Amino acid sequence: MSDVTKVLVTGAGGFIGHHLVKFLKEKGYWVRGVDIKHPEFEDTAADEFEILDLRRWGNALQATRGVDHVYALAADMGGMGFISSNHATILHNNSLINIHTLDAARTNGVKRYLYTSSACIYPEYKQTEADVVPLKEEDAYPAAPQDAYGWEKLITEIFCQYYSDEYPMETRIARFHNIFGELGTWDGGREKAPAAMCRKVAIAKLSGNPEVEVWGDGLQTRSFCHVDDCLEGIYRLIYSDHKEPINLGQDRMVTINELLQIVADAADIEVVRKHIDGPQGVRGRNSDNTKLREVLGWEPEISLEEGLARTYKWIEGNVRETYGLGEPAPA
Ligand code: NAD
Repeated sequence: MSDVTKVLVTGAGGFIGHHLVKFLKEKGYWVRGVDIKHPEFEDTAADEFEILDLRRWGNALQATRGVDHVYALAADMGGMGFISSNHATILHNNSLINIHTLDAARTNGVKRYLYTSSACIYPEYKQTEADVVPLKEEDAYPAAPQDAYGWEKLITEIFCQYYSDEYPMETRIARFHNIFGELGTWDGGREKAPAAMCRKVAIAKLSGNPEVEVWGDGLQTRSFCHVDDCLEGIYRLIYSDHKEPINLGQDRMVTINELLQIVADAADIEVVRKHIDGPQGVRGRNSDNTKLREVLGWEPEISLEEGLARTYKWIEGNVRETYGLGEPAPA
């Protein structure tokens, strides 16, 4: 019998899931990827990749068969533009995906289960100022997430904790704070702020029109974490003995205007901001990483400048190719 640990990554056709498959393959795991679509920008590294809709119980059972660990990343999600205007669909789809995947994993005797929650679970009343106090894990209650996306994440966290208490399956819960990087959605409406800024700056650079649109006054704040740090954190967490939810992100808070400036510096251009109406989410949000440091003995290491420079380079190449702007990117 093989002693190679077998893992399932759900959402393996998506941004973080695709990176996670590569990361786990490099560490020597046997990996099954499951999604409703293949990865968009390069082939999967998974040993097996199945197209399965996890909203269906039978598919969740098939997906979780014969694996030791599950990394549950599948979700119907996107940036603020998407999650602030599709509440019913998101609540419906993500509830079904998570209830089925979690219970199917238990049924199939999975040993460890990592669930990817979000900073969107934190109550709106703690995030009304741009200069916000960083959010500690216990700030989640009394609960008042801003969107259905956050409510669903919160209830699935509770599912995971009860499953861990009552069944022989260890569950771990990471609350991601704005993960970004190469090979992520960069246009089409589901992209998040860092990718959207990279696309807009690349268009400004290649078209020669320096105007870049920013939703709102751009003074809303967030922290942003590069995907490579996120993978390291997930991996450390699944092997930790920490059962409660934990923040996983950077604790350096910047305004959206500052985010844009860092991208413009990476592109080496001057931009002119044009503030327009648009969904902004909560006014301010930052991660308190005290518990992360304590539990994992580690915290994200890639600077925002470094992460955005890498991401910008990749998105500029896509903009050149897709929009037919500028010369093709040098190989
Ligand atoms: P993503 O949208 O790129 O990946 C999610 C994947 O789930 C997609 O490929 C999608 O096709 C798949 N999926 C959707 N419905 C499905 C279904 N019914 N059956 C099977 N697969 C389905 O998103 P991501 O940024 O890679 O996020 C991964 C996880 O991390 C998600 O659970 C997300 O909620 C969570 N998260 C991400 C961030 C972030 O900043 N990227 C922040 C907080 C939480």
